[in-house]
Amino acid sequence: MTQKPAYDVDLFVIGAGSGGVRAARMSAAYGARVAVAEEYRIGGTCVIRGCVPKKLLIYASEFGHEMADIAPGYGWTFEGARFDWPTLRDNVAAEVDRLSGIYARNLRNSGVTIHEARAEIIGPHAVRLSSGEVISAGTILIATGGRPVVPTDVPGIEHAITSNEIFLLDHLPKSILIAGGGYIAVEFAFLLKGLGVDVTLLYRGDTILRGFDDDVRVHVHGELKRKGIRVVTHTILKSIEKTEAGLHIHLANGQSVTSEALMLAVGREPYSEGLGCEAAGVARQPNGAIVVDAFSKTSVPSIYAVGDVTNRMNLTPVAIREGACFAATVFGGTPMAFDHDTIATAVFSQPPTGTVGLSEADARAKYGPVDIYKTTFRPMRYVMPNEETRMMMKLVVRPSDDVVIGCHIVGPDAAEIIQAVGIAVKHGLTKAQFDATCAVHPTVAEELVTMKEKWVPSVA
Ligand code: NDP
Repeated sequence: MTQKPAYDVDLFVIGAGSGGVRAARMSAAYGARVAVAEEYRIGGTCVIRGCVPKKLLIYASEFGHEMADIAPGYGWTFEGARFDWPTLRDNVAAEVDRLSGIYARNLRNSGVTIHEARAEIIGPHAVRLSSGEVISAGTILIATGGRPVVPTDVPGIEHAITSNEIFLLDHLPKSILIAGGGYIAVEFAFLLKGLGVDVTLLYRGDTILRGFDDDVRVHVHGELKRKGIRVVTHTILKSIEKTEAGLHIHLANGQSVTSEALMLAVGREPYSEGLGCEAAGVARQPNGAIVVDAFSKTSVPSIYAVGDVTNRMNLTPVAIREGACFAATVFGGTPMAFDHDTIATAVFSQPPTGTVGLSEADARAKYGPVDIYKTTFRPMRYVMPNEETRMMMKLVVRPSDDVVIGCHIVGPDAAEIIQAVGIAVKHGLTKAQFDATCAVHPTVAEELVTMKEKWVPSVA
């Protein structure tokens, strides 16, 4: 007689986003009996209201600039060109539906049971679904992601939207104020401007994209302004009033801005509230991030967590790798810790930004003097249209061993270029090895292997 398994399932995954889906499918492939609960839609932030729909809106946004500013230099004119938000919104929604369906199908085809319900942990080996059903599991994986931060101390904040709502708007506002200066604020400022919205960006600091290389920050900040985006710095939201003329947004510096819409992009927080962490003994940081070790194990040995809910590096490919490492460790018999070092990332500004490794400032703080190679130039395709957008490329090199420890690019195709450069920087190639690589001509990326002169700061 076969013995009844000790638990209903071997693995219960809470959250069907990038990390949860990868972990569920891989664990099932290793032979585990897996169930997953999702309270909203299969696919999570990236597919439903993040990377994917955002990138589609960016493609749409770029057409306007290309038609108005670039194509005429090449002999094209477009008469009667017009943008229709409902068409774009509905096409994006249909694509998101398609992808969500594929995610669900892939899960089912992998043998994973999907519960369309909210799940709460009620013990080291048990979850309760919003339907009331209790399911026991050998291992529980928390992969609930993050959610936008909404400040609670700003009167009238209920009139603001976040990146959750922006994809679903009935109509595109004529004007919008975007609060924040990170990835989401910058990406939406450019993309909405490109769709014809009058955009104001409100940033509490001096130069946007804190944490990025200073040359990147200055370059992108300048591009925001050059594109006609109003950038208001050194202040924050104070209060919001809804009036007939739109939202009357009062700032802490005494100024006010009237805008049809207000979008908050002041960070995201781990979504771990109401999950039952306290009851189960799962330790969290004050910001809600679930504390995990290198193998994504929480303070409870049978409970793991991956992705944004752990607030390590909040990027989809990172969550996917963490999920894969979890599955290999727990069900594949091969303990694997994901290496969070030197991960390439892109900000889909216009033009885009690609970055990998250390900024110049971080490199100096870590290693002392470093060698800098940098260039700015107008890409060939912008010369005939007389478009002023410039490309910025920068290599940060450790003098002791000539290793390229950082690469920062702003300009056309930067996101695509940085993926390939990321391989070289991740694996410690030297500046001499970059130089020994023959250029691909004519491209913008060829500058990466042709920058010969060390940059010397100009003396005022
Ligand atoms: P970020 O953490 O990138 O930026 C938050 C911004 O809000 C910062 O400029 C910050 O200012 C500002 N801010 C924070 N708190 C306040 C406050 N109380 N009042 C005013 N301003 C405030 O968050 P995002 O929401 O833009 O993105 C969240 C994360 O999602 C990113 O960090 C990234 O990991 C991921 N993401 C990745 C994308 C990609 O890969 N392309 C795209 C979108 C998101 P300060 O600089 O002073 O701290």
